[in-house]
Amino acid sequence: MSDEYEFTNEVYYDDDADESVLADKTVAVLGYGSQGHAHAQNLDDSGVDVVVGLREDSSSRDAAREDGLDVATPVEAAARADIVSVLVPDTVQPDVYEAIREEMDPGDTLQFAHGFNIHYGQIEPSEDVNVTMVAPKSPGHLVRRNYEAGEGTPGLLAIYQDPTGEAHDIGLAYAKAIGCTRAGVVETTFREETETDLFGEQAVLCGGITSLVKHAYETLVDAGYSPEMAYFECLNEVKLIVDLMYEGGLGEMWDSVSDTAEYGGLTRGDMVVDDHARQNMEEVLAAVQDGTFAREWINENQANRPAYKQLRQAEKDHEIEVVGENLRALFAWGEAGSEAEEDTEETAERERQRADD
Ligand code: NAD
Ligand code: MG
Repeated sequence: MSDEYEFTNEVYYDDDADESVLADKTVAVLGYGSQGHAHAQNLDDSGVDVVVGLREDSSSRDAAREDGLDVATPVEAAARADIVSVLVPDTVQPDVYEAIREEMDPGDTLQFAHGFNIHYGQIEPSEDVNVTMVAPKSPGHLVRRNYEAGEGTPGLLAIYQDPTGEAHDIGLAYAKAIGCTRAGVVETTFREETETDLFGEQAVLCGGITSLVKHAYETLVDAGYSPEMAYFECLNEVKLIVDLMYEGGLGEMWDSVSDTAEYGGLTRGDMVVDDHARQNMEEVLAAVQDGTFAREWINENQANRPAYKQLRQAEKDHEIEVVGENLRALFAWGEAGSEAEEDTEETAERERQRADD
């Protein structure tokens, strides 16, 4: 990194944050899933007074108690707290907020890890409450693991409203207490975080890449190549390439592949993802910006997710999933493989717990 480089957004580290802001405050963490369990335990280990808010019938209650945390209902937790961290799934946050809104006293802080419900007006806090976002850029189990290892997880900080003048300090202190300022916290806004997050997952991370993989797989199989080879070339090897990009950007990836692969990629990439794909991306972004996507998703949830269920099933039934399941069973995983597998199992276990909830 060159010394002259100036980030567009402000970036904060441990020295910029003052944890003493939290010394006389209680934090309620609502939800004990991916983010909730990590925030609650990291805050607790940082000496912050924490209470976890979970429904009486939540299967996460035992887990939180076993981790040594104080557990109450969301309403009781919010009543006790000065800072309420809303870490239940985004689709249930509006209902949970309705239940606890009476407990938000003037000067309290409502804290989020994603901006969707605030940005799209699904939660409208009263004007005398601080509204902050501290969003680790990582799944919760890594937020917890990094903290325990004395390392940090990069995160985002945004302030939506600040009636007390303290919201920024509180957000930074919270980010420090969960370990984010050890790595660096980038200042953003609820709008920027929400819209870039949705666009990124739709265009690249979840939507774009799966469509790219499926279309490429189908192109090879339709041309008579074996499903096994199509799977290896178009899905399995994605990880090797992405790991290189993650480590050292596009340059490290280009440096690591053969000259043939580099030339082929540089000349053919834009033929596949061409100007038309770019126009489609702009349409996807416009639907995020003007709220069309948000309305569609909110309506889909209110209708008990008919399209979502159908799409999910179609994805499960895709041939590439069947081939993949059988091929992956043949792999003798190496050292790195089994670690990755443990990660996946840990995540899958949490998914199962959540599904039970
Ligand atoms: P999650 O699905 O892992 O866990 C949510 C928890 O909420 C459950 O474990 C349960 O304890 C509780 N819960 C579930 N259904 C409930 C209901 N109907 N009523 C009350 N409580 C219920 O959620 P998550 O992925 O940790 O997401 C929490 C927030 O963090 C979201 O705003 C999300 O966008 C954000 N976020 C998530 C990640 C991530 O990697 N998972 C990363 C950054 C930000
Ligand atoms: Mg209160």
